[in-house]
Amino acid sequence: MLAPEFAYLNGQIVPWDAARVHVFSPVAKYGIGVFEGIRGYWNENVQQLYLFRVAEHLERYAFSQKAMRFDQPISSDKLIVALVHLCRANAFRTTVHIRMMAFIDGLGELGAKGPVGSAITAFPREATRQSVEGASAQISSWMRMPDNVMPARIKCNANYHNSRLAMMQAQLDGYDIAFLLNSRGKLAEAPAMCVFMVRDGQLITPSGTNDILESITRQTVIQLAREYLGVDTVERDVDRTELILAQEVFYCGTGAEITPVTSIDRMVVGSGQPGAITRQLIAIYRAIATGTNTAHESWRTPVF
Ligand code: PMP
Repeated sequence: MLAPEFAYLNGQIVPWDAARVHVFSPVAKYGIGVFEGIRGYWNENVQQLYLFRVAEHLERYAFSQKAMRFDQPISSDKLIVALVHLCRANAFRTTVHIRMMAFIDGLGELGAKGPVGSAITAFPREATRQSVEGASAQISSWMRMPDNVMPARIKCNANYHNSRLAMMQAQLDGYDIAFLLNSRGKLAEAPAMCVFMVRDGQLITPSGTNDILESITRQTVIQLAREYLGVDTVERDVDRTELILAQEVFYCGTGAEITPVTSIDRMVVGSGQPGAITRQLIAIYRAIATGTNTAHESWRTPVF
């Protein structure tokens, strides 16, 4: 992967190689950081880059910092300006994946609440192959950690050790993705994605108390499914065997967007092809995110 020209660190746009922290900082030692992934969608017709649902990402970012007891949260207004300036500095004219991270810098130990560093990076990133062709999923033997152990609701760097174990096992075993069950044996989420299934024309997804991140894409899918397809979503516990019964399964997240799942543990889902509801949701989501469909204007922040 080629690094972009500029990154953002502590209030300034800096050359990529200058965005550094010390190897002995609490973020490096213990993973004491929180982050957000935001996509910017390039619209060729209007020559515009739209950042998608920035306000919602910044709200979750603020919650994560509060829950981690960080000092000196950085104001959301400053961060929006920084996001826009970084995209302009890199002159992106393509769809991008932005990551912003607030982290504990300095010489502190485990209980350090500051100094809080602030970084933003952005890379060009198109849709994944799986989002077009469909993905194969494995039900992981790794368990999603419970809320009173390491809350999945906080988007904390260290949480991704759990996601990584599941992802690496799935990939070594020849699957695209892992689905993790929680401590009650119910479906939680995938590494960096939430999961939906379609049963008898209804959308079903694990509720917010199933050890998931409160995903912004999940919320967007629920809203767009109701508005455009007239399909309601039931948020409840999901058993692993229901995934085998389902006519359609997909996962969603900022990076993954909406990705159909065509097999689980080598059992075919539905017809083995991306399902009709999933395909319609992918099209609506893309149109709204890129601004081809001009509804939900407040979800798009123009960069240029
Ligand atoms: N779960 C986890 C653990 C994640 O890291 C992500 C990606 N942020 C998601 C779900 C999807 O969340 P969102 O739709 O807000 O990107």
